[in-house]
Amino acid sequence: MPPSKPVDLSPDNQDILEAWRLMFERECVAEIASLSGLEGYVYGFELDHGLIESDPVLSYHFHTSPANTLEFGTQVLSEKFTAAGITPRPNIRVMNLHPRYLKRVDELRMRDRNDVVMLDVKIEDITHPHGWLKKAIYECRDCKTVTHIDQRRARERDSPRVCRICLEKAFEGIETHGMPMSMFYPRPNFKMLNEICKYEDIQGFSMRQITYDGEHHLINCSTKNEISGVVTDDMVGELNASSYARVNGVLRVDPLPTRNFAKDTRRLLSLDVFSIEPLPIEEAGQS
Ligand SMILES: [Zn+2]
Repeated sequence: MPPSKPVDLSPDNQDILEAWRLMFERECVAEIASLSGLEGYVYGFELDHGLIESDPVLSYHFHTSPANTLEFGTQVLSEKFTAAGITPRPNIRVMNLHPRYLKRVDELRMRDRNDVVMLDVKIEDITHPHGWLKKAIYECRDCKTVTHIDQRRARERDSPRVCRICLEKAFEGIETHGMPMSMFYPRPNFKMLNEICKYEDIQGFSMRQITYDGEHHLINCSTKNEISGVVTDDMVGELNASSYARVNGVLRVDPLPTRNFAKDTRRLLSLDVFSIEPLPIEEAGQS
């Protein structure tokens, strides 16, 4: 099955794609051109939040559905990279967020999930980098049709239940009107194509809320107000333990890492980080 995604896009998503396209063409042509000859697999493309704010469509959607908006931005930027002959895959790193996104760890609640937040923190425990299966690719063992399924991190892997092509073939010439489909159990017959599945590097860390004065002197680093975060791709391996940073990302709801039964309903908030900016904090005693 060809990846013909844009065909059934909602009008909102078409607007987002078009707004990104115009914004990159208006603001980033020279910067993209300057990256020609860039090496590596993935590149963090820093984008000032002011550019998003100056576009009414992007500004609205980045605020209301940031993960989706950034995904479309990455898609458009990838096309721009390919057209310019740049090999690494880009990731958009939105920097210099508007101060309205600044929150404190202790005030985050479940209702804030999927929101953009900016946290001033000290970075603590950093896990070893690992990978996860972001998009699984399956092949029907009968008709060889290939199916792509986007996965969710830290959740059970989704696999296809039925091959439409084979199902339609099985039903050819059979009167299906009124047939109770819930009584019909086609056996899934797929294999996962491990080698061409899409994987992503990630790294987890914890961060603690800090407070500081107008001259960036540290007042307090909380031992209670802590939240975990996840960085991906080009940011993996770049975190510095014990450093102070402004961490920007989208709040997500995760299952408890210690869950020991499958349908545990307890959830934790964590941050899908899209950019990190160092904070020049001075601890007491430093000059
Ligand atoms: Zn099939």
